[in-house]
Formats: sequence, C-alpha cells, structure tokens
Amino acid sequence: MFNKRIRIRELLAMEPQGQEVTVMGWVRTFRNNQFIALNDGSTNQNIQVLVELGSQGEELLKRVTTSASLKVTGTIVPSLGKGQKMDLKAARIEILGDSDAEKYPLQPKKHSLEFLREIAHLRFRTNTFGAVFRVRHALAFAIHRFFNEKGFVYMHTPIITASDAEGAGEMFRVSTLPFDQTPRNDKGEVDFKQDFFGRATNLTVSGQLEGELGATAFGEIYTFGPTFRAENSNTARHLAEFWMIEPEMAFYDLEDNMNLAEEFIKYIIRYAMEHNREDLEFLAQRLADEEKQLPQEKRSEMGLLEKLEFVLNNGFERLTYTDAIEILKESNHNKKKKFQYPITGWGMDLQSEHERYLVEKHFKKPVILYNYPAAIKAFYMRQNDDCAPGQPTVAAMDILAPGIGEIVGGSQREERLHKLEDRMKEIGIPLEELWWYLDTRRYGTVPHAGFGLGFERMVQFVTGMTNIRDVIAFPRTPGSAEF
Ligand code: ATP
Ligand code: MN
Repeated sequence: MFNKRIRIRELLAMEPQGQEVTVMGWVRTFRNNQFIALNDGSTNQNIQVLVELGSQGEELLKRVTTSASLKVTGTIVPSLGKGQKMDLKAARIEILGDSDAEKYPLQPKKHSLEFLREIAHLRFRTNTFGAVFRVRHALAFAIHRFFNEKGFVYMHTPIITASDAEGAGEMFRVSTLPFDQTPRNDKGEVDFKQDFFGRATNLTVSGQLEGELGATAFGEIYTFGPTFRAENSNTARHLAEFWMIEPEMAFYDLEDNMNLAEEFIKYIIRYAMEHNREDLEFLAQRLADEEKQLPQEKRSEMGLLEKLEFVLNNGFERLTYTDAIEILKESNHNKKKKFQYPITGWGMDLQSEHERYLVEKHFKKPVILYNYPAAIKAFYMRQNDDCAPGQPTVAAMDILAPGIGEIVGGSQREERLHKLEDRMKEIGIPLEELWWYLDTRRYGTVPHAGFGLGFERMVQFVTGMTNIRDVIAFPRTPGSAEF
C-alpha cells in the first residue's frame, strides 16, 4: 500500500518531535552525500532528508540523483541547519524510480521560460511552474465555489458544434471525410452531407448561445470549458485552445452583468490570496527579479501582491466607449502620435495599445468599457434605445486589466425577437440556422445578460506571468501542438 504517506506541505506544518513519517517525492538536490532536498509538488518547499553517515548502503546513495523518485521513512527532528524548520532523519530510503542525472534536462539552475516551454512535460517540476499551476487549480476551484454559492447551474455546452454564426473567431473544422478523396456535390463543393454528422461541424469558439438556452430555463447558469480559435495571432495573450468561463443570467441587465463580473473577479483573486499565499509570494519575487532587468519606465509601478490587493480594494472604473474615445483622442499620447494605430474617432475598434493606455496610464486600475458601436460587436448584443443620432450602440461591456488588456467580454443580450432578426438579416446570418436560438425569444423571452472570462488571461493576471503559454499546461498555438 502506498497511501500511507504524508504530503510535504502538511509535514512542514507539523512541530517536529521525533514522529515517524513516510514521504515520497522527487530529488531536487543531493549535497555532500548527506542532505537530500525532496519535493513532492504539494509546495515549493522541500523537505531536507538527513542521511546519517554509514546509515545507508553506498550503492543506494549513488542512485539518489536529481529527479530520482524516493520513498523515505524516518523521524522528523528540529533542523540544526539554517533555512528549514525540520529535517527528516532517514531510517529507510527506497528508490522508486532512477533518473539519469546526465541526461535529465532540468539542471538545478535557472532556465529560461522559453527553454522550459520546450520541455513542458517536465516544467511542472520547477518552482515557477509548481506555483503557477497550483494557483491555476485554486482559481478553477474558486470559480466553481463562487457560482455554486450563488445558485448557478454548471452547464456543459457542446465542444463540437454546427453553428458557425457566432463570429467570435476562426474555427477548426471537425470532419471524418477523407482528405485525398473528398466527396463533392453537383456544384463541386465539399459534400458535408456525407460527413460524420451529416453536416459541416467545428470545434466551439464559445458556449454562449447554448448557455442562453440554459439561462432561460434555470435562471442562472455558467459554463467552464475549453474553446478553440484558429486565429493566427501569435501574441502573448492568444491561444488556439483556451478555457473560458461563461455565466449567462436571466433577469439581468448590463449593470447587473458588470456588477456580477466585478464581484466574481474579486472573489477568485481573494480566494487565491488566502489559500495560495506562499506561491503568490514566490511569483511576486520572481516577477520583481525579472523586472529588474527592464528599463525603469517598463517596470510595473506595483508589485504583484500589491497589485492584487489594489484590485480587491478599489472599484473598477466604468465608462462608455464614447467617453473612452474622447479621452484617447485628447491624450498627449495620441497628440504626439505615439499610438501605432491613431485615434480616428467614434466607431473605430480599440486596439490593445489603446486599452492598455486607458488601464495602465490613464486610470491605473481595471476598467469596464460599455455601450460599444453596434458595428464592431456581435449580432446578439442588445441594441440600445437611447443612442445619439448616427451612432447606434449595443449594451456590450469589456473588462480591461492592467498588463493584460481585455480579460472579459460580455453584454446584455437582445431579447426582442424582431430586433434580433432584423440585425441578423442586416449582417447576413441565415435565421433558419439558429432556429433553436430564436425560439428562446419566441417562448417567454426575458431580459438576460452574460459574459466570457478567458481563464488563462485571469491566471496570467494573478500569477504575473507575461506569456499565456506559461499558464496552460500544454499550449496550442500556431505551429505548435507538442505533448
Ligand atoms: P481579443 O480581442 O483579446 O482577441 P475577443 O474579443 O476575441 O478577445 P471574446 O470573443 O469576447 O474575446 O472572448 C471572451 C474572452 O475570452 C476574452 O475576453 C479573453 O479573455 C478570452 N480570449 C479570447 N480569445 C482568446 C484566445 N485566443 N486565447 C486566450 N483567451 C482568449
Ligand atoms: Mn479575438
């Protein structure tokens, strides 16, 4: 039986008084044939295993190499050395798995994040990734806890979908048709009638449309699942496969939606601050060290923990798209032509440099922009009734976070059937394709709203990791799907 072990995290919380324990883990270092630093992934801290001279066979000790896996039974005693509270005096050491230290790619030194991405199968064994992925776990757990406490129903929306009307991004086709002899119809087009589902299908870009079906029965639902976008944007904030949380609520307007999103973000940050203090302190230090290499003006004004505290203790700035354009237009940054994309005026789509200017330079806190021009937003967003002439807007809202840019995108949904149909016709979405979606507007339609939070962008924000590839276990990006 293996399960009579204690995790190092729990062990280190004990008062060492000679208790007998068994730990299992992987060797980080072995010094002087005496001190083994053993790690089991429950914390970045290692337990120092004390090997008393002559107590273990020499052959065995030779096999205690970096990353070998061990089972150690012994007693815990207060440490005589500095840097740790206790030592585990080994009575019995068993090698569970050898590791060829010559070939093991992770040496006990600092590796670059780029190099670690190439060995993503082993990078969890570093302190940085240990901390990042424990925080990621905590955030995922906090998300479920938040919605459960609020009475939301967790809904699993499909991963394979036939609707290609959402326009959220480029899609990955799902097909079992042969590549070399694709069946064609009379017009010479690929005949998807012969495909597995009898029609063309894709990986989902969002669970929202199905989420709305749930909300109009349960009142409040949320999804938390993988989404896929074949966008060829090689940025530090885009993945081809990422996880999204999409709550959808009946009887909510845009303001309710913003309130929920802000409360939600603060809740999950607070949860991580309370439960993952040690990991966040480690990541804060890591970020501070990394930023020391940057020129002064590129460094963050606040440390990671300070930033998270600040977000918890301050309201997000809320302003309309129209006001944001005004601020950007009047900014010195724009007047000195420092934006790569100049502010051309009302109606333009905001680039990430504009969003970051508002958040990082102007307001210096998270910002919620709302009431966007209808033309740059999706068909299902609610058309505002009180728009300025020639400037139709929809009840959309985006939340912008320092260092990341857009982290949430949401809206009140158009619940009025004729308005929704008119909009779909206007931009050429066939009504019959979304007959089931339109049915919710036919049978007891209600005001409702929802949003999508990109999970990895949230993890980036909380961990301070600058590249999104470093907060998901095995990133999928253009040209890369190893592991
Ligand atoms: P962006 O403008 O940054 O590409 P978007 O407008 O395409 O975002 P939405 O369609 O509103 O984003 O998706 C909701 C949320 O999902 C975004 O706010 C963001 O947090 C996240 N997100 C969108 N695309 C990606 C991606 N390719 N990789 C990781 N997260 C993403
Ligand atoms: Mn996008």
